[in-house]
Amino acid sequence: MGEKFLLTPFGEEHEIFRRQCRRFVEKELAPHVMEWEKKQDFPDEVFRRVGEMGLHGILIPEEYGGSEGDYLMASVWVEESTRIRSGGVEAGIGMHGLIVLPAIAKFGNEDQKKKFLPPGVKGEKIGALGLTEPIAGSDLANIRTVAKREGDHYLLNGSKTFITNGSRADFVLVLCKTSPEAGYKGFSTLIVEKGMAGFTQGKPLEKLGWHAGDTAELTFENVAVPAGNRLGEEGSGFYNSMANLEWERLIMALGTVCSAQLAFERTKTYVLQREAFGRPIGRFQVNRHKMVDMAMEIEAARQLNYHALRKLMNKEPCAIEVSMAKVFASRMGDFVATTCLQLHGGYGYMREYEIERFFRDVRINAIGGGTSEVLKEIVGRLMGI
Ligand SMILES: Cc1cc2nc3c(=O)[nH]c(=O)nc-3n(C[C@H](O)[C@H](O)[C@H](O)COP(=O)(O)OP(=O)(O)OC[C@H]3O[C@@H](n4cnc5c(N)ncnc54)[C@H](O)[C@@H]3O)c2cc1C
Repeated sequence: MGEKFLLTPFGEEHEIFRRQCRRFVEKELAPHVMEWEKKQDFPDEVFRRVGEMGLHGILIPEEYGGSEGDYLMASVWVEESTRIRSGGVEAGIGMHGLIVLPAIAKFGNEDQKKKFLPPGVKGEKIGALGLTEPIAGSDLANIRTVAKREGDHYLLNGSKTFITNGSRADFVLVLCKTSPEAGYKGFSTLIVEKGMAGFTQGKPLEKLGWHAGDTAELTFENVAVPAGNRLGEEGSGFYNSMANLEWERLIMALGTVCSAQLAFERTKTYVLQREAFGRPIGRFQVNRHKMVDMAMEIEAARQLNYHALRKLMNKEPCAIEVSMAKVFASRMGDFVATTCLQLHGGYGYMREYEIERFFRDVRINAIGGGTSEVLKEIVGRLMGI
């Protein structure tokens, strides 16, 4: 698939930025990935280097150290970050700079923006988002973490699980109930900081994929969170958590397509080199067709993503398009991963080959940020079915 064949929403300035991102990722991050994956960890220094490159601040106003770019610029970074070739590292960086910091920029008051954004943009302080609980993921309205107002602080009790950057985070946006009887209007978001008494950050959980990534449980036992750490109005937590979901879901769909493209390219090289029965395995019609099937699926997913991205950029309603894009990309990712692995034969099963990591990492896309089933429910309802 030649890149010039593709229709994209990006202009010249995006492509210049893309080249900078690509050079940085391929020179400074990708070479360390095998080591980080083995250690099941990557250094905090990575956040600082990404900060020095200005990449945590794309969606952050200039007065707090950002570059005030738009979703197109941010999408270029999402796409290029897949060249790190480790879903865990990509997710940690993306969660911090593309989800947590923009939420503070959008809903925070002046004090909060001054306190959290400049060090966040520099990658000196790392953020996380705590929505999911052991008892509730898809059904977020059913979370049990509660915060009771007592004078100038809230007393927070409960737990969160599967939190990206959870072990290392310096601050976490925690969705909790401040008025459990008030339905959707009873939620608030508190910024809980590392070291607050009663706040425990668990060790990284062991996972199928995203090995280098830090995914952890958090517990809150009578944590006194200052009222000044409430993000947005009391009662706005549920709505604010939903407000950026389309962008958050699109990040995953864009990443899936670019990771699949990388796996495709690697596999193309392999099938044209590896020989069996006197010819390259890619020259067997059955395998050539597999390559074409993958190319079609990748391109269809990419165009669905770009269609949703254009609508998001134009501030048009895009819940249907984004949900479709994420479901489609997740399914495509699983298909491409299985097919690439099969075409690599035994080597596809080996750690040393990237395909094995992609096969494990890609599986999360149908689960995180809204499962495919939940997203289909959204689309179905919006279609009046
Ligand atoms: C590696 C990783 C990183 C994560 N990072 C974060 C993070 O940083 N912050 C955070 O808050 N969360 C995070 N999550 C949590 C993630 O968002 C949830 O796992 C996801 O939303 C699903 O919730 P659940 O695991 O509780 O599954 P459940 O909601 O229990 O779902 C189980 C199954 O039931 C299905 N199901 C549920 N409801 C319906 C329905 N109405 N109709 C049909 N089927 C349904 C689901 O589709 C799924 O197949 C992460 C998860 C992982 C694995």
